[in-house]
Amino acid sequence: MHIIAQTRSSGEAAQRVTDITTLTTACVCAYDVDGESPRALVEKNPLARRGVCRGCYVLLEELEVKAAVLTSFREPLEIREFPRPRLGPGELLVRITAAGVCGSDVHMWLGEDPRTPLPMILGHEGVGVVEEIGSPDEKKDIYGRPVRVGDPIIWDRAIVCGTCYFCAVKQLPNMCPSRWVYGIHRGCSEPPHLNGCYAEYIVLVRGTKVVSLADWSELDHALLVSAGCSGATAANAIELADVEIGDNVLIQGVGPLGLYLVAYARARGANRIIAIDGVPARLELAKRLGADILLNLEKTTPEERREAVLSVTHGIGVDAGFEAVGRPEPILEGLQLVRRGGAYVSVGTAVPAGTIPVDVYYHLVLKQVRLQGAWTNDTRHMIQALNVIRREPDVFGSLITHRFPLERANEALEVMRRREAIKAVIEPER
Ligand SMILES: [Zn+2]
Ligand SMILES: [Zn+2]
Repeated sequence: MHIIAQTRSSGEAAQRVTDITTLTTACVCAYDVDGESPRALVEKNPLARRGVCRGCYVLLEELEVKAAVLTSFREPLEIREFPRPRLGPGELLVRITAAGVCGSDVHMWLGEDPRTPLPMILGHEGVGVVEEIGSPDEKKDIYGRPVRVGDPIIWDRAIVCGTCYFCAVKQLPNMCPSRWVYGIHRGCSEPPHLNGCYAEYIVLVRGTKVVSLADWSELDHALLVSAGCSGATAANAIELADVEIGDNVLIQGVGPLGLYLVAYARARGANRIIAIDGVPARLELAKRLGADILLNLEKTTPEERREAVLSVTHGIGVDAGFEAVGRPEPILEGLQLVRRGGAYVSVGTAVPAGTIPVDVYYHLVLKQVRLQGAWTNDTRHMIQALNVIRREPDVFGSLITHRFPLERANEALEVMRRREAIKAVIEPER
């Protein structure tokens, strides 16, 4: 097909364009087109799309990507449409196949997370299929394998600078002051809009660390999403506690974070793993992942739990304890169940949740307890989570209690808020 067009530039002789490929060198708004609107021109000539400037792009493009958008706190997410984005070099357009609904999403929805920009597309845990790769770059995954259109991938939800003191000197990229996370830190007002996983597509910026799942085709994407957040965060926590072979471990709260902690403690050769939770179904999953002693919070007193812990640890307490509840109060009980010289890691409290009166002398100094916070993770922890899931796909599959299409994202948040779900997943293609 040949399209006739003329340049608008005054002074020079009007350029008659007869070859469609010459239109790719400038935006269609630079041309007068005989009897054709810019939109018609682009529709007739897909190659012309490549030269379209960002402003025209938004005007020309059909709204065609659906996303569930948080516009005001405590209100239902709205399904909105966004233009299919135009990729820069090295960017990936990924069709979301599964988006995990994290406890943090519920906090953000309710306005409890100080990081939340509005309007925004929630969702920082995603798995999807590569739809397009921004040319001219090639994309490789962290193992150096080429990433191709059609490949399923998972990615590190965080982008860090790589050059600051925390990234480059202390190898603590999770502490990078420039760190930002898809579905948490960026709103959706500006192009490319698609920054979160509660959407049909997401745009991954250049520098996103991805893992090809091309060799994982047999696995349900829904059960992999938590590797990107709770599984990776729990891996950081277990590393910080330095759980060793034969250690006795206490895990308070066995939602997704705590269940991963159970799996890691088992993988590290823990002796006894004690899980505390108020939901029997969660305790049952903890047992399947290797917890030995299950203490129902609703049916035991603090004294009974103390007795139970001391009776299996020769009266000295656990080597490592973890708060994976999301509130600071359990820390007071946990610190008293940790042995002298042991470690206690708080990993569940992901939003401001108040203070607790720690008895510094009796519970920290006299016992020489190491009290440690754990914030998110590094990429290696996501890999550890993926490997744990691969060993126990059935159990991690059992974590997924609810699945919803994108249009029912609000129900997904609601079942998580009411703690009816262990893990809810949004599947936009459902
Ligand atoms: Zn999360
Ligand atoms: Zn940095």
